[in-house]
Amino acid sequence: MKSKSYLVLVLVLVIATFIGCNAVGSNTVEDPDSGTQTVNEIAPVSKDNTYKINVELDVEAKTLTSNQSIQYVNAEVVDLKELYFNVYSNAFSSKETAPFLFDDFDRAYSRGFEPGYTEISSIKTKAGESLKYSFQGEGNTILKVELTEPLKPGTAIELIMDYKVLVPPANERFGYGENHFNLGNWYPVAAVYDKSGWNLDKYYPIGDPFYSDTANYEVTIKAPKEYVIAASGNYISDIEEGSSRIWEFQSSRMRDFAFVANKDFDVAEQIVDGTVVKSYYYKDDAKGGKEALEVGVNSIKIFNEKFGKYPYPNYSVVETVFPSGMEFPGLVYISDNYYKDFSNRDIQTIVIVHETAHQWFYGLIGNDQIDEAWLDEGFATYAESIYFENALSTARGKNYFNNSVEERHNEVIAEKVIDGVVVKGLDDFKNWEDYGPTVYTRGAVVLNELRNKLGDEKFFQVMKEYFKEYESKIATTEDFIRVSEKVSGQELDEFFNTWLYAK
Ligand SMILES: [Zn+2]
Repeated sequence: MKSKSYLVLVLVLVIATFIGCNAVGSNTVEDPDSGTQTVNEIAPVSKDNTYKINVELDVEAKTLTSNQSIQYVNAEVVDLKELYFNVYSNAFSSKETAPFLFDDFDRAYSRGFEPGYTEISSIKTKAGESLKYSFQGEGNTILKVELTEPLKPGTAIELIMDYKVLVPPANERFGYGENHFNLGNWYPVAAVYDKSGWNLDKYYPIGDPFYSDTANYEVTIKAPKEYVIAASGNYISDIEEGSSRIWEFQSSRMRDFAFVANKDFDVAEQIVDGTVVKSYYYKDDAKGGKEALEVGVNSIKIFNEKFGKYPYPNYSVVETVFPSGMEFPGLVYISDNYYKDFSNRDIQTIVIVHETAHQWFYGLIGNDQIDEAWLDEGFATYAESIYFENALSTARGKNYFNNSVEERHNEVIAEKVIDGVVVKGLDDFKNWEDYGPTVYTRGAVVLNELRNKLGDEKFFQVMKEYFKEYESKIATTEDFIRVSEKVSGQELDEFFNTWLYAK
């Protein structure tokens, strides 16, 4: 996400204290046929999980009714007795746990608070066997599904979930407004099992507290026919059926699936390097929508050259109600305010460039955004200057960096950052005022310093090698340091200790 506004919003910052909500009753369901044991293991079709989701959007009731199949692959070296999923929508069920950006509740809930959450009616194996499940964690955002027998490494199980999602009236990643539905983080998505075991983090109110593996998606979305759907993944078809329209999207090896429904969208598109870039904009905002397309196209082109090729056939830049920008794989939200304000075009450009850069840093090269947010935010922020250097001029790029980032750099050094440690978890940041300058600004400065140290040629070789090694995988700070040392032939411990760990 781009939090340009954190600098402004700190003025009205209130330190939100998120007190753990009272756990609501466990939704554990007893399996009526628990006497029988079925072997549910299947040979995985892919190393990645595969989601097949049929979802219907009811715009009057503000609900999503979904049937979701997940082929979950045990890619670990241990047996798994249970599986965990993040059900982020449940964080919106109470004021105490509802996440809202930049600590601004009145902006997020301008029409008053109403809850959002997910109600699961069943979780079964493909053979029809009901599985026990329960919710846990702050806001009940963690879904635990108990398997009847351990899932062995290298094997897969297919689960079928039926559930209904109530969408809240929130001007957020997940929420609805007068004409639109922002549907990010709306479905149960598998938690990541990594070297630390299951990652069962809460929905933190700062940062983008998401962490997921790449997966394959086949999604059909049924919505009233006057709504246009912009989605992650590749558009396959849309077919009118009575008063509805059924949209089909598909993607391979994407890290998440989000969509936006709006009854007032126009679309402009352009092909760049084999990718169809689409700009979705409100009918009254054609000028901003065309400019958004141009920036999206230029960003893809520049980052393809500088980092590595964006592999998907579609990329969508979507105007919507949101305080800044938000990245999802293959789709980014861009604030509708930027499409209307022609006094300062830079902000729309910067935010689109930033969110597009996240397609590489977070989308393609995954990272744990709870523990090491600088790996996506610092990189996406630094990519802004790379865009300006290449789209406009070297001078503009350098000025962009010197005038803005160097100022920010000084600001970072001067007290904004509490301890200068860039690599730390969301728990260790006090608020947006601490988080923003540390991971975005100081994170970008680290890369600028690395570029100054290695020179342009080696620096971009590092970026390309990092992409090559970690595309569709998850990288850590240690991985980036290792690639930097390997490519440059230099020992960089001291450099990174200083810049990342303030040692
Ligand atoms: Zn960002």
